[in-house]
Amino acid sequence: MKSIIMAGYELEIDDNKTLSYYKNLPFIGEEEHCPCMYCKNYALTIAGFPKSVQNQLREMGIDPAKGAEVSHFYQSKNSKHMYVAEYKAFGKLVKKPNEEVIDIYRNNEEDYFSIGFGNTHFNNEEMVFGILIDAFLPWLLEENPE
Ligand SMILES: [Zn+2]
Repeated sequence: MKSIIMAGYELEIDDNKTLSYYKNLPFIGEEEHCPCMYCKNYALTIAGFPKSVQNQLREMGIDPAKGAEVSHFYQSKNSKHMYVAEYKAFGKLVKKPNEEVIDIYRNNEEDYFSIGFGNTHFNNEEMVFGILIDAFLPWLLEENPE
């Protein structure tokens, strides 16, 4: 177990369990995950995520390139694309912040990167967290969006 403080949340993460869960998951955008252009584009944007986010996900045992449930919403006039992606971590929630969704940055309503917590449920007495990335991301895929 590892104590993590992220965006005002205090968590006890079972990093070994999370790590081994991610080990077996396919990469986002691969055939076994979902090979649609929106997932493929999301996968390309991960390297450009704020470093603090990448580090915190990895500290919890999450591989940001794998297995997330990726939803694409729309393309903004600024040409960025709104996405919400949900990752999972195993462990315990110790303390919640007042704000459920925390901005890593927010330039305006269509240019931000935030983190929040989604579904939290028990699975055989163990808590599973949904960790949400809610962000406007660039289009990096060569193929143009529909
Ligand atoms: Zn997809």
